[in-house]
Amino acid sequence: MTYFRAVDPFPLESADHTKLHEFYSHLASGRLVTTRCLDCRTTAWPPRGFCGECTSDRFEWVDLPGEGTIHAFTVQETGLPAGFDGRRVFAIVKVDVHRVFAVLVDADPLQLRIGQRVRLAPLRVADDPKGNARWLPAFTPT
Ligand SMILES: [Zn+2]
Repeated sequence: MTYFRAVDPFPLESADHTKLHEFYSHLASGRLVTTRCLDCRTTAWPPRGFCGECTSDRFEWVDLPGEGTIHAFTVQETGLPAGFDGRRVFAIVKVDVHRVFAVLVDADPLQLRIGQRVRLAPLRVADDPKGNARWLPAFTPT
């Protein structure tokens, strides 16, 4: 899939652009991780390069569970960004104490319900301009 950078719907994920790039390499290997402050031990979602509680910029990566529950969802039928086919289900998934905005894959909207269990299923999207793979958090019903 080729498209212009000006309409790129995905964040820059490379080490050139963010010190949080490891999030995406972990996601590519099937792990959902986030940052934990090394000073006050607060776990953030989404991952943060500095702590919202104590402003420290020292953090470590910690794994989040690979399963969660649907907190809310919606279905987008039209106007999808480049690289997406067909209708798309977006959800807020409760993972541990965090609420993760994600795509639901292989999900029939008519069969979904709040509280339903879902498991991590990272979604590969269009490569970055250098040809590196990019991933988004996604879940699928269990
Ligand atoms: Zn902190």
